[in-house]
Amino acid sequence: MFKRILSTLLIIGSATANITCAESNVDVAKHTMVIAHRGASAYLPEHTLEAKAMAYAMRPDYIEQDLVLSKDDHLIVMHDIYLDSTTNVAKVFPARSREDGHYYTIDFTLEELKKLQVTETFSMGEDGPQAKYPNRFPLWKSSFQLSTFEEELELIQGLNKSLGYEIGIYPEIKKPYFHHWEGKDIASIVLLKLKEYGYSDKQQKIFLQCFDAEELQRIKFELMPAMGIDLPLVQLIAATSWGEKLIDVDGTIKNYDYDWMLERGGLRKIASYADGIGPWYPMLMEVEDGRPRANNVVRRAHRRNLQVHPYTFRAEPENLPEEFENFNQFLHFAAYQLQVDGIFTDQPDQAVNYLSRPHHGKRGY
Ligand code: CA
Repeated sequence: MFKRILSTLLIIGSATANITCAESNVDVAKHTMVIAHRGASAYLPEHTLEAKAMAYAMRPDYIEQDLVLSKDDHLIVMHDIYLDSTTNVAKVFPARSREDGHYYTIDFTLEELKKLQVTETFSMGEDGPQAKYPNRFPLWKSSFQLSTFEEELELIQGLNKSLGYEIGIYPEIKKPYFHHWEGKDIASIVLLKLKEYGYSDKQQKIFLQCFDAEELQRIKFELMPAMGIDLPLVQLIAATSWGEKLIDVDGTIKNYDYDWMLERGGLRKIASYADGIGPWYPMLMEVEDGRPRANNVVRRAHRRNLQVHPYTFRAEPENLPEEFENFNQFLHFAAYQLQVDGIFTDQPDQAVNYLSRPHHGKRGY
């Protein structure tokens, strides 16, 4: 009798242990969401509708939109506040740059912006335009345009209807400080547009992201309550030296100091207005003797119920962090060592393929 009970207990015990072990691995993989960074941007020019349609077909969890305003207050889906490095603006409107040499999106109407051709990101070298990623889609081939936020929302919502998937959106309000300096309130315009398209609370598949902590607090505590909406917010974290946000201190322009965010009390502060953080992935790890391991940022963020969605995971050998031999190893590290909740990636196909497979054990790549 005693023997039978003991063996039953042992069977139950070992079955439970197996299930727990297997499920915990599968769960980690299942919950590492894939965010298509600027679309399928490794394969087609970023933020074009073509890149978004291709990303959609790869079935990520979310597709990202960066948003800036035109002169006539249309939301344009593009990464920079300048048109210089992704369009032929210098050819079409040669006299329209500002004193600093940049062509600002905010100086052009939608009608003018639609006349521009979009290409892969480039910089002007001595021998003409040089692609930022030489192995990606060739410069100036085929025909791509800038698109509005409405056009992209209708594309994604239309595909959700025709294909029956539920792929979310992940808009980013670009440089609110710059838009304020130009006399425009981009955050209010984005929120109104989201409300118009049915995004009003945490039931819809959306995250709204921004690098600007003060603007996110304004959105959380003033703008959204006034509009009767409540969307999940993500605080993006930059390095101070990048100058991602500029501030005017008694007439002197300075880089906003991001250091407080990962210091003591920083994540608690962020958790008072946001649902997640979007750090640069090196902020989550430390490397000792060439071996990467997690630091305590993800654990501290999870303790505050903050999701963690680092950027940007790129698969090409030349874009891979040197600590990893291949992209799967990098994804494995993010999912199982860092235990992040989602990743921004230029290769949503590869990330979905790897992260949707159950991986047992520590070296599943
Ligand atoms: Ca972005």
